[in-house]
Amino acid sequence: MARKWVYLFKEGDAGMRELLGGKGANLAEMTKIGLPVPQGFTITTEACTQYYEDGKTINDEIREQIDAHILKMEEITGKKFGDHENPLLVSVRSGARASMPGMMDTILNLGLNEDVVRVLAEKSNNPRWAWDCYRRFIQMYSDVVMEVGKKYFEELIDEMKAKKGVTQDVDLTAEDLHELAEQFKAEYKSKIGSDFPSDPKEQLYGAIMAVFRSWDNPRANVYRRDNDIPYSWGTAVNVQSMAFGNMGDDCGTGVAFTRDPGTGAKGLFGEFLTNAQGEDVVAGVRTPMHINEMEQKFPEAFKQFTEVCQILEKHYRDMQDMEFTVEHGKLYMLQTRNGKRTAQAALKIACDLVDEGMRTEEEAVAMIDPRNLDTLLHPQFDQKALKAATPLGKGLGASPGAACGKVVFTADDAEVWAARGEKVILVRLETSPEDITGMKVAQGILTVRGGMTSHAAVVARGMGTCCVSGLGDIVMDEANKKFTLGGKTFHEGDFISLDGSTGNVYDGVIPTVDASIAGEFGRIMAWADKYRKLAVRTNADTPQDAKKARELGAEGIGLCRTEHMFFDPERIFAFREMIVSDTKEEREEALEKILPYQQGDFEALYEALEGNPVTIRFLDPPLHEFVPQEEEEIEKLAKAKNKSVQEIKDIITSLHEFNPMMGHRGLRLAVTYPEIAVMQTKAVIRAAINVQKKHPDWKMNPEIMIPLTSEVKEFNVVKKVVVETADEEIKKAGVNLAYQVGTMVEIPRACLTADEIAKNADFFCFGTNDLTQMTFGFSRDDAGKFLNAYYDNKIFESDPFAKLDQVGVGKLMKMAIELGKPVNPHLHVGICGEHGGDPSSVEFCHDIGLDYVSCSPFRVPVARLAAAQAQIKNPRK
Ligand code: PEP
Ligand code: MG
Repeated sequence: MARKWVYLFKEGDAGMRELLGGKGANLAEMTKIGLPVPQGFTITTEACTQYYEDGKTINDEIREQIDAHILKMEEITGKKFGDHENPLLVSVRSGARASMPGMMDTILNLGLNEDVVRVLAEKSNNPRWAWDCYRRFIQMYSDVVMEVGKKYFEELIDEMKAKKGVTQDVDLTAEDLHELAEQFKAEYKSKIGSDFPSDPKEQLYGAIMAVFRSWDNPRANVYRRDNDIPYSWGTAVNVQSMAFGNMGDDCGTGVAFTRDPGTGAKGLFGEFLTNAQGEDVVAGVRTPMHINEMEQKFPEAFKQFTEVCQILEKHYRDMQDMEFTVEHGKLYMLQTRNGKRTAQAALKIACDLVDEGMRTEEEAVAMIDPRNLDTLLHPQFDQKALKAATPLGKGLGASPGAACGKVVFTADDAEVWAARGEKVILVRLETSPEDITGMKVAQGILTVRGGMTSHAAVVARGMGTCCVSGLGDIVMDEANKKFTLGGKTFHEGDFISLDGSTGNVYDGVIPTVDASIAGEFGRIMAWADKYRKLAVRTNADTPQDAKKARELGAEGIGLCRTEHMFFDPERIFAFREMIVSDTKEEREEALEKILPYQQGDFEALYEALEGNPVTIRFLDPPLHEFVPQEEEEIEKLAKAKNKSVQEIKDIITSLHEFNPMMGHRGLRLAVTYPEIAVMQTKAVIRAAINVQKKHPDWKMNPEIMIPLTSEVKEFNVVKKVVVETADEEIKKAGVNLAYQVGTMVEIPRACLTADEIAKNADFFCFGTNDLTQMTFGFSRDDAGKFLNAYYDNKIFESDPFAKLDQVGVGKLMKMAIELGKPVNPHLHVGICGEHGGDPSSVEFCHDIGLDYVSCSPFRVPVARLAAAQAQIKNPRK
């Protein structure tokens, strides 16, 4: 039997999200529970995948099913495509499994042609409406299906408004709109070379293919990569009978949330436009009114709508984001989905749902997207400075946060400026989804038009980027890259500050302060800690970082990169003296100067960690990274070392390596210069002894980590140096101190021979930065140069240096654990590469049985939450 590619709304339900996409599944579910949904059908996500497999065509089997469903839809609605009595008009909308607001395409009013528009104009006694629908349809179809570009049509509208002396689209008459429709068709013909299609079926197939095609458009690809949505999922297409919000003043359209997506506060939140169609609200073309005003205009429909909101929220047990239309006072639901929300709102909603008895603690923990927490940890405006400042103007606080940066006017400029390290605020008349790459790199977004549910607002909230929208007081001059607000003109490069909560915009830079974990954030984190099995440590090289990480819940240090302790000018000099030494004695002399710095730092780290585990990683980088480049520095070094400038230069030249990443680094340094390992061991052990004396109740047990092991014998050579030195120090001090010597696992050969290494090591810690580099053979420093081509060619969907490659690198990790644990039951295993703070990688680490993940301080809460979610999804003992 043929596969079923098309489903009527009444054949599906919410459980069929994978096949019907989120929108299709929810339209089916709303139909099932008896809500007023204009009927239609959904073409499955599998049909989209098939479309790509068939070389971007819709095959006969799928066509037959679509044709059959058009007939069924005509039967259900009592309307017919192209009919002169009762014509059927439809919307065609995308709908992926995970919602991707604004990323793909939509077409409304499909089915109109020269004849049908006249029938509608006459039968409805509302020619303005009929011609408005037609001109919108031509505009959208030309843009989305034929890719003519919106701007030509917008220019024609602007010309028409200027000619008629009006400012709003709604002020255009039936005749104006009729004339516009004719102009649009002429524009279409001049750009495409053929007449605008009049056969509704041809229009429908064009639209369906355009939606399938939009799955692969650049902005959708960027969005998918950022949100971990696999390309293979495809999008469904929903063909739905139109309900008209633009038929007159007793009609309208709106978007509403059951709770505030910015703060999470309970209560209806949304916007409404009378005599309009859906895209007017979301595209931010007209600034809409608050949803509560709908109550006065349409009391009946409003009452019904609030009931529907309650039903839907109870049904889905989550905050809903809905689109609806009122046609002659009657309510129609066009969409519902779990609403996108800011991190702050997500926490409040999850806690409230638990308090309201709708969700369990585990469910609340599982509801929060860990990636969003990041935004809460970023600095907030210093309240005192904020109070003292006078806002230039106030827009809508569309996505919270504190943003300061230089003004730029295009998404492209934002990218270019950000690439050279500038902080930018993207200022636009309104954003379109094409702006997504610029929005991503901006600190904040400011738009002149648009409401709380405009694309700019929705997308910014999803990305956790601060956004102020709808600041209508701005006098914008995009062409000359300047705007005026509050009596001041701002040019490209001028500083402004945005408060995404209040919508206030300030001149210059307002100082910021660090955020803290309190309130609902603290509550969710406490639940996460209750459920997770994976410990979370931090990568910290300074006592400040370590303190911050402790505040954010780190249970230890998983990686202290000791070389980072030498960035300070005074320290780096001592370090350089060590590097340019010729003899062991000379080197030891220089190392003696370094020892007190290291010991002092380690003591401070141990203090900051209050007796919790601290892993110190021995010197790892190739030494040439630290040699001086400037003539003056070289001279200074020569003097101190009693060498000639030329001698120093010769040493620097001799340190040059063709492949430093695979060169003289890691434990290879300690094999060639054991005195470095001696000095570092002394510092670790002496610091631990001192801190232990000060805090007898702490159980000091320093973990010494040897980097870059590939062979057990090289590990053993270095371990011997460490153990002999440590034991001697402990003996000299006359104390008892336990310590561990383990290794980083970051070379494939270490994974392959993990059973041999584990016999001698106390712990493993996966250095997945190097392990990814060495497994793929991609340089960690240069991969950025070609990764974009890999995304374009669908070779990669994400950066393997950010999101763990579970198939390849993950297999090596699993192998290392499976080989290592049986030969050493005490072996503890962690990860300290960048992946330790990436949610999907954390889940993988949980699944393969790691003991801890270690990540940078600000990602600690992300990892705590991801670890809890992994346990809830896949419990382990
Ligand atoms: C790693 O390689 O994953 C690691 C943590 O070490 P580094 O980044 O310092 O090489
Ligand atoms: Mg490494």
